[in-house]
Amino acid sequence: MQYVTLNNGISMPQLGFGVWKIDNEKTASIVDKAFKVGYRSIDTASAYGNEQGVGEAIAQSGLPREELFITTKVWNGDQGYNQTLAAFNKSMEALKLDYIDLYLIHWPTPKYDNYVDTYKALETLYHEGRVKSIGVSNFNQEHLERIFAECDIKPVVNQVECHPYFQQAELKSFCNQHDIYIESYSPLDRGNVVLKDTVITELANKHNKTPAQIILRWHLQENCIVIPKSETPSRIEENFSVFDFELSASDMKQITGINRNERRGSEPSENNAR
Ligand code: NDP
Repeated sequence: MQYVTLNNGISMPQLGFGVWKIDNEKTASIVDKAFKVGYRSIDTASAYGNEQGVGEAIAQSGLPREELFITTKVWNGDQGYNQTLAAFNKSMEALKLDYIDLYLIHWPTPKYDNYVDTYKALETLYHEGRVKSIGVSNFNQEHLERIFAECDIKPVVNQVECHPYFQQAELKSFCNQHDIYIESYSPLDRGNVVLKDTVITELANKHNKTPAQIILRWHLQENCIVIPKSETPSRIEENFSVFDFELSASDMKQITGINRNERRGSEPSENNAR
């Protein structure tokens, strides 16, 4: 496992495990499998409805709490200072934890204009030690700039959609300048076409790895944190086996060349779902 050091000095595994769309009933056994494979970082959200299953897996794992890195997120409808503090308590209860490693604002939902107040609640939780790091998700540059102007603590990560068909070069460079890690979500293009791209499949043949392993390695070498999801035991193992090879500069360049600027999810300024 490789770790990165966040801008507040905390270490975070560079490869984690995403649990979006995993049914709560199945979550404990799938996360248990991920722990057995070696994952230590789990990415959930109150909106995924499976914090309780993640909590069950943590409780049963017998792993020391300090070895784990647990991320959850405040949902759009819970934004606002007091609402966020209440939502945080509910997440802690569901996860059965007494602190959370990383708490994120799920989406900025600019139409409601309360992500700054929401972020101030995250700062309070950070000062109280109930959350070890705070960050954002789906924030464009303009949303980050408002946080810089109106809040005190810099986010440690910006979790955004990122994969070889949607590479986010500009946002990566902006976050890099500000010492904020990009955390790539939907890193495998949600299991879609990028896994069949000929550049990716040829690199897979060259390195004797699978297309998913090539893409995950690309994220790591792009200096991003990455959180693939799978509920298939063999893929949970496959996605973790990415630390024993390296892409060359020319391999990396070839992958840069296949960007299509093709987003699968919503444009953050336009997603005001609650
Ligand atoms: P991913 O890019 O991780 O793709 C997951 C899909 O790819 C699943 O259908 C999975 O199938 C399949 N898959 C996984 N591994 C392989 C493999 N080795 N070969 C072929 N197919 C594979 O998409 P997600 O959208 O789930 O993103 C990952 C995580 O990012 C989420 O779980 C969530 O934690 C986070 N996220 C955050 C968002 C946000 O707004 N902040 C939005 C979206 C995601 P199967 O499970 O059947 O094996």
